Amino acid sequence: MNNLNNKKILVVSAHPDDETLGCGGTIARYLHEGADVRVIFMAEGITARFDDAELQTEKVKKISHIRNSNAIKALSCLSLDEKNIYLNDNYCCRLDTVPQINLVKLIEHHIKDFKPDIVFTHSKNDTNIDHRITFQVSLAATRPIFDKTIKAIYSYEVLSSTEWNYPNPFLANHFIDISDYIDKKILAMQAYEDEMREMPHPRSEEAIKALASYRGCQSGLRYAEAFTLIRSINN
Ligand SMILES: [Zn+2]
Repeated sequence: MNNLNNKKILVVSAHPDDETLGCGGTIARYLHEGADVRVIFMAEGITARFDDAELQTEKVKKISHIRNSNAIKALSCLSLDEKNIYLNDNYCCRLDTVPQINLVKLIEHHIKDFKPDIVFTHSKNDTNIDHRITFQVSLAATRPIFDKTIKAIYSYEVLSSTEWNYPNPFLANHFIDISDYIDKKILAMQAYEDEMREMPHPRSEEAIKALASYRGCQSGLRYAEAFTLIRSINN
C-alpha cells in the first residue's frame, strides 16, 4: 500500500509485546506516513507465570498492571497515542477458557467502530495457544459481511513463539521495509522491562535485529518485517 494518508490499520495481538515483536517497525512507519493505527489486546501478558490460585492476589494484579503500563510506554516509543490502545484483562495463556464468541465479538466491535483498511494479527501455527486462538477469532471477526472496509489481512511472526513450531515454519510472503524504524522497535521492546533476554534467547536485541536483517535479505531491504498474506480484496 503506497498512500497511507487516512488509512486505518488494526493490529490484533494476544498480549502486550506481541504487537511490537510482530509489527512494531510497521506500526511506527505507518504512523509516520499518516495512517491511523489502533492496537487491541485479547489478554494481559504476565499471568502465564502464575498458578490459578495466585491469579487474584494483589502481587499478581500489581505485576499485571505494570505490564499494561509498559505496553503504553512501548507503544508511545512507536508514536502511538494511548487512546488508540485497548488493553484486556483476560488471563494470559488461558484464552481457551474464554468462550470464543466473546473474543470474536470483541474484535467485531472494533471493526465496526474503527473500520480498518488493513488488519494485522497472529500466525495460525504459533506455539503459544493464545496466539493461535487470536488468529482463529480474527478470521471469524473479519469475514466480509459488515461494511467491507477491510482490504487485506496479514499474519505477523512473534519471536519466541512462531519460530518454535518447528514442523510448521512461518510463511513469509509479504515484506515491509522498517530500515528507518528498527531502532524504535528495539526501544519499544526495551520498555517491556522483564521481557527482553540475553542472546541466544529470541527476545533479545541481537535476535530481533537478526530476524529483521534476515527478512531484509529475503526482500532486498536493510531491515524488514515479514508477514503472511491471509486475504486481500480489491474492490
Ligand atoms: Zn504473546
